[in-house]
Amino acid sequence: MMLDLRRIFANIGASLDIEGSLDMSNVDLSGGFPLKKPVRYHGVVFNESSVVTLKLDIDFEFSAPCDRCGTLASECHTVTIDKSLATALERQESDTIIVVPDMQLEVDELVYSEVILNLPSKHLCRENCKGLCIKCGKNLNEGKCDCDLSDPDPRFDVLRNLLNN
Ligand SMILES: [Zn+2]
Ligand SMILES: [Zn+2]
Repeated sequence: MMLDLRRIFANIGASLDIEGSLDMSNVDLSGGFPLKKPVRYHGVVFNESSVVTLKLDIDFEFSAPCDRCGTLASECHTVTIDKSLATALERQESDTIIVVPDMQLEVDELVYSEVILNLPSKHLCRENCKGLCIKCGKNLNEGKCDCDLSDPDPRFDVLRNLLNN
């Protein structure tokens, strides 16, 4: 969606509501497609005392195997954008300013890059996921297994050998 912001830049007090969705289901993350549902966004662009501000909430659902147990899990995330729009950068480059030389804002492009930048680096099916048993592979969220995981300390082996001799 291309937004024409000339009216906003020209009129103090003017505002424009933004609402839309973006298909990002083709985004491939290490062999999986985590953004199955359309990414939704809504917000507003407004001119307050000649400063044009963009406020945008981006909601996306991230579906991927849990990092610990491998169960497919979905989690909703929101990215909030609160930035000024300017036709040129007056001072040095800034993270808080989006430059729109022709007063056109390609919203989909912005949403796309913000979602990619904010994809979760850690993804768990639940906060306290117990993961899989390292011996038998059982999902420990579903219950305990019978494996003995008390790793014998090698120092005890030395002691045991001494006692046995
Ligand atoms: Zn898990
Ligand atoms: Zn086990």
